[in-house]
Amino acid sequence: MPRSRVDGWSEPLVLKLIERHGGKRPEHILEAHAERLLRESEQDTLPVDVDLIASVLGIRRRVAPFGFAGRIYAEESGQLVMDLNAEDGEPRRRFTGAHELMHVAFPGFKREARYRADTSPGANPRNREEEYLCDHGAAALLMPRQLVAEGYRTDDGLDAVEALARDAEVSLEAAGNRLVSLSPTPAAFLVLKMTHKPADTPALRRGEDVPERLRMRYGTTSNLDLYVPRFKSARESSALCRAWEGWSTERGLEPLPGGERAGAFRVEAKAYGADENRRVLAIARPAA
Ligand SMILES: [Zn+2]
Repeated sequence: MPRSRVDGWSEPLVLKLIERHGGKRPEHILEAHAERLLRESEQDTLPVDVDLIASVLGIRRRVAPFGFAGRIYAEESGQLVMDLNAEDGEPRRRFTGAHELMHVAFPGFKREARYRADTSPGANPRNREEEYLCDHGAAALLMPRQLVAEGYRTDDGLDAVEALARDAEVSLEAAGNRLVSLSPTPAAFLVLKMTHKPADTPALRRGEDVPERLRMRYGTTSNLDLYVPRFKSARESSALCRAWEGWSTERGLEPLPGGERAGAFRVEAKAYGADENRRVLAIARPAA
């Protein structure tokens, strides 16, 4: 009988994937799948042509206002169909397309007529295991490990994130996550927004005036024993808060929100986007 948990993975389909690949780590299985797709479509430069890969695989692609980001499924004839949302911007649609191509790597994909509609490619938490792994594979497809290693360094901070996002035609968040997750040196990539924390909800319901604060949405770390908790607020007058106030790149030597125990980091932070989409992105490296 197959085990019910392997290295913290528990979704039956993920366990089947691990079993089929002789116990390999599922992240590595998805990376290998991405690399195979790149080889088969003969691509070794950025930006990766996702549509070309889909056509090499014989996938029929439809772009229409679907009301969800994307989905992929096999018709009864065996024909694979990928649906992508026409209302999404190009970087998001590219990421969704790459994410859908990763579902094909899972065992029994064609047999199981699963009409799963993806709503949040690129933002799936670890506990949505198959979706999380497809996000991981999508990043590997759009930003191949070797091309990232050759051309971009976390030491160059947000300049490197911007350059990778531009060259790979992905969002700044996707570029920052991938760059830091492949970093050979300790680094963190942080995304913050002006928002309330969940514990503010009762007071807000009572009609009390609770100010929003600049809070962690998520963080990606590499080679660091550091957990960056969601909703932790940035310290006033920190580089993170100063970045929110304007448009310039702000630098500081400071602990990360909720990470005081880990000591000081060299933080480079900058605000991007307008209105609802305004957020602060930061690259941080330990000072010591
Ligand atoms: Zn998915």
